Amino acid sequence: MVTRCKIGLLTAVLFAAGPANAHGLWGHVHVTGWAAENMPDDELRAFLLEPEVFNALLFGAVFTDSGYAVPGDASRAFSEHAHWEPFIADYVEWMRVNDPPPWTTLESKKRVAFLMGCGSHGLQDSIFDSLFLYQIIENDGVGQDEADPASDGFLSLDGHLRFFPERDIPMDVLLELYADVDPNITEDVILDAVELVTTFYINGDIGPTVAASFGESYEAEIPWTRVHYMDPEVPGSLRAEIFPTMRYQQALWKRLHGELDPNDVTVFAFPEAQRRLLSADHTSTSSWASLIFGAGVAYQPSMVTWTGPDDVAVPFTQGNTRWGADHTRLIRLMPNEPLLPGGEYTIGMPAGVTLIDGQRTTQDFTLDFQVACDADTADLCPDLGPPPVASIDGVVEESDPVQDEATSGCGCATGGANFGVFGWALLLLHLCRLQPRSLHRAVGAVMRASAEQQDR
Ligand SMILES: [Zn+2]
Repeated sequence: MVTRCKIGLLTAVLFAAGPANAHGLWGHVHVTGWAAENMPDDELRAFLLEPEVFNALLFGAVFTDSGYAVPGDASRAFSEHAHWEPFIADYVEWMRVNDPPPWTTLESKKRVAFLMGCGSHGLQDSIFDSLFLYQIIENDGVGQDEADPASDGFLSLDGHLRFFPERDIPMDVLLELYADVDPNITEDVILDAVELVTTFYINGDIGPTVAASFGESYEAEIPWTRVHYMDPEVPGSLRAEIFPTMRYQQALWKRLHGELDPNDVTVFAFPEAQRRLLSADHTSTSSWASLIFGAGVAYQPSMVTWTGPDDVAVPFTQGNTRWGADHTRLIRLMPNEPLLPGGEYTIGMPAGVTLIDGQRTTQDFTLDFQVACDADTADLCPDLGPPPVASIDGVVEESDPVQDEATSGCGCATGGANFGVFGWALLLLHLCRLQPRSLHRAVGAVMRASAEQQDR
């Protein structure tokens, strides 16, 4: 039975507001896992797909948002910090000093994987919030309150949920890294938040059912998102996040080995290879280009140039992530005037960009791409062939427990802890924080999930 206490807690987990609290947790878990699965068949892929290491990777992606689920400045602080490059850079440095490669023990491997999960989550938030969320606003007229639970819900409705990570946290590393951030971030603070999230949302029990209920609740309201949330052609969709996340994981691997060439810091771009910029209409988000970095780079107001046919400069606005960031993993280029359908364009980033570890690029970076044609310019746009699309079908071996659990289906036992006074206290706290409309929607969705569970 799902109690009213549980409803409040679930609501809190799903709707806790945070500046870097972007797409839902199920989305983070799966994009992070799919990224590892899509790696070339090399050392890093083999490393990450070892079952317990893979679990740690996925749980890093869960941990990053968990602190938003409970009240308290310390909880919020540990989650917020985990989203950004200063945390990732400190973690990389901690590993290089205290647990350098080659990593031979399982504990060492899981520390590395957890770091990659946190970093993957933070990057995904930057991509989703800075690119795809604006597509949702443009096409469906709604914002983050709807996009976050809905995208998780659609994953569940469409049968994409197959990773169910279990708690595994490198507490020794975290407590050391957080000591200078906030002395109130303790093991209990972290465990309380993680316990809440795993008990009521990230599990193979009620979590997928609750997510599905949110999906049902929102799909009529955001029809464009319903169709395109996994569209690989739209920058920032969950599926379009997979390759950038994979490239970021590869860059992190190099950072951990002290082998990242600063001139390789731009690991991905939209439009990506074998695709064109979607629109010449400068009033549409589809006309934006973006660069994605494998390490935070010091943000400057004019980092890049944009030129078009005949080397004519394109008037544009350069944007940071939606939330800003001193050391950003993404910049946006938003044209201020119409582009030419079928036109060839170049983005340039001159040498001298400073990475978060102090390295500087010594070579200019350029990205050449074409804008999609219209009916009058169709001759300029020959067929490029099928572009690469990330797999979401899974390539782990059958003996992998992650895969085994995924194929076993939902156990649908209603379990869960009795939180008693603690639960009711959280319920009241979070109900007070929620917007009335979101609260109404959240409670309704969870009530439906509850009823569905009880019917089984
Ligand atoms: Zn987040």
